[in-house]
Amino acid sequence: MLTYKNVRLTHALLSSTALIGYLIYGSVLLLYVAIGLALIYLCIIVYGVFTVKAAFFLKLYNEGTITDKRIALTFDDGPSEHTNQVLDILKKFNVKATFFLIGSKIETNQEVLRRLVEEGHQLGNHTYHHSKATGFYPLQKLNDELIATRTVVKQFAGLNMILYRPPFGVTTPNLAKVVSQLRLNVIGWSVRSFDTTAQSAESIIQRVLKQVKPGAVVLLHDNREKCATVLETIIPHLLNQHYTFATVGELFDIEAYEND
Ligand SMILES: [Zn+2]
Repeated sequence: MLTYKNVRLTHALLSSTALIGYLIYGSVLLLYVAIGLALIYLCIIVYGVFTVKAAFFLKLYNEGTITDKRIALTFDDGPSEHTNQVLDILKKFNVKATFFLIGSKIETNQEVLRRLVEEGHQLGNHTYHHSKATGFYPLQKLNDELIATRTVVKQFAGLNMILYRPPFGVTTPNLAKVVSQLRLNVIGWSVRSFDTTAQSAESIIQRVLKQVKPGAVVLLHDNREKCATVLETIIPHLLNQHYTFATVGELFDIEAYEND
């Protein structure tokens, strides 16, 4: 399996053998081999950092291994002024979903947070500031980001969140350490809607419906106006195909909250 530990070990072994060979025999070819190995290693690391599905540095829950037609709708980057519309549609179809919250948006959207909890949705951490550089923060700063959002949700909703979704799906060795210290369950996705860049609701709908299969985790954003329009179509469509909807905690049979 392609994991950070295996790749690092294999690279260290092969490149040190090539370098020792170069030093003993003076063959420039072995030096080129070592340089080539370093480049391959770098490419794999970059792939691991930016590919959530690779689960390269840590365990990620990307997709359920089930055969029944059950999927999880997940929403990132809220709470926002559009979240209420999303909640109205979820309520209309009696669908429970999972929301990965940005801590800095909670204080001005406390009513939305209350509604999320009251209507039975699950909450997860999506950092406090959602900076593009989050994945590359030093350990303490990354830890502070996660603790800050957990604290604000605890304060306003009384829940101690342990689900986490990394912004932009970026994972690193530092994140792996923080996740282990805080005992978090890290959630990725299997269906990316690209709703933050798509031009039309129709293209998002088509993309989602084409990829959905049993155990899918669908990534959407409740800070986008199009989100409600997309849901109005995809939920009844999937219900007609006999799909049911679960929170990620239910889908993977994992805890979403920790007792104090
Ligand atoms: Zn995000």
